[in-house]
Amino acid sequence: MNEFELIREYFARQPVQRADVVLGIGDDAAVLEVPADRQLVVSTDLLVSGVHFPAGTDARAVGHKALAVNLSDLAAMGAEPAWFTLNLSLPSADTEWLQGFCHGLFELARRHGVALVGGDTTRGPLTIGVQIMGFVARGVALRRAGARPGDGIYVTGTLGDAALGLRLLQGEIKLPEEFHAAVVARLERPTPRVAAGQRLHGLATACIDISDGLLADLGHILEASGVGARIELARLPLSLAYDPAFAQVGWEAALAGGDDYELCFTVPPEQADELRRAAVLFGVSCTRIGVIEGEPGLRIVDQHGGAYAPKLTGFDHFRGD
Ligand code: ADP
Ligand code: MG
Repeated sequence: MNEFELIREYFARQPVQRADVVLGIGDDAAVLEVPADRQLVVSTDLLVSGVHFPAGTDARAVGHKALAVNLSDLAAMGAEPAWFTLNLSLPSADTEWLQGFCHGLFELARRHGVALVGGDTTRGPLTIGVQIMGFVARGVALRRAGARPGDGIYVTGTLGDAALGLRLLQGEIKLPEEFHAAVVARLERPTPRVAAGQRLHGLATACIDISDGLLADLGHILEASGVGARIELARLPLSLAYDPAFAQVGWEAALAGGDDYELCFTVPPEQADELRRAAVLFGVSCTRIGVIEGEPGLRIVDQHGGAYAPKLTGFDHFRGD
């Protein structure tokens, strides 16, 4: 199979058709129609085999995750995803791998109505770069800056499950059998909180998606907003799988484990009731874990009301360089 046959076979006949794709795959570039009253929101994420997922990870999971992490970035901006491009570096034209990859990728694409509109394909170490594009009403994109003292700090879903999945696969922790599939799914097939992000307009003063761990990502909100915060460990939303893991991982998986892809956002206290009403439509739980404070820095309160000093802060690819 040559490069062009591969593109035609796997990527040209993609399942999502959108009227705003004037010209999709097959020409030198795509031509896309942006609604006149909206702004284009663009994000990209690179997944490298052996860095972002273990070599040998199920191809379906790789396809799912490559798009999911990008959808999560648009969710954090409160944007509606529309289109994506795919840059693929492949060691070989392995049809079984490509079929699995496309299955995972397009299943998620279909669920969110996003169309693949172009890309590039080359031979090389397994690397997947997705660029995603979407829309937001003019001037209302959710940012990391904007949190104010007194705002409640909220997270969607549960924290730390993906980190438990990774440690389980690496043989670093033991969990009862009944939780294995769930935590590995949280690692390999994260659910981007797209619907929640789009409902945060007019409610959230700042928002980010949690990819590197709560402490690191909340830290970005605090830095961009020029504020500090206090969070309570007892309020962290944890799944049932966390109970048997707690003795092995403590709070660190929830605080600093990467790959959660939940949203962390801040809401002024006078909007808390409105948030509760909106959250019914999020499709996921939403938990208040603390409060923004004027004094810089992050203060963590333990179950007994004392100060807690975290042992890890989050993932950094270039730490120590
Ligand atoms: P060029 O040489 O001009 O870069 P290519 O031969 O690389 O063109 O690509 C031909 C068409 O196929 C283009 O429309 C491109 O966007 C699309 N394409 C190539 N690789 C992919 C891919 N992995 N996924 C989606 N579209 C792709
Ligand atoms: Mg090309």
